[in-house]
Amino acid sequence: MIRSKKAQERVPKMSDKCSQCGLAWDADEHMACVPPKDKLNYGEYKLSPAYKAALYDSHPNYTVEEVVGSYLGYNQLFPDEETWLKEQDEEEEEEEEGEAYSDVSESD
Ligand SMILES: [Zn+2]
Repeated sequence: MIRSKKAQERVPKMSDKCSQCGLAWDADEHMACVPPKDKLNYGEYKLSPAYKAALYDSHPNYTVEEVVGSYLGYNQLFPDEETWLKEQDEEEEEEEEGEAYSDVSESD
């Protein structure tokens, strides 16, 4: 057996392919594949781990098309990543300022 170092160097740059079906992640025909929970890269789009996890928890059967669509803001059932991240910040702030509400009970 001859091991060629040159052959190793010439390994073609693999495009990012799905481990489930072998199609490229950004291929048109791959839009119907349901990606694993930890999959964050979809062609030119990269989701944040927290956003993807939350989306997966709510909709574990979302296809690539639906995941990317949600990320971009086309899903009315789930906010886009930017909106979602803002909501997480706001929720944390609300928890910290829990005693800030005023009790305005009107009495005659
Ligand atoms: Zn796939």
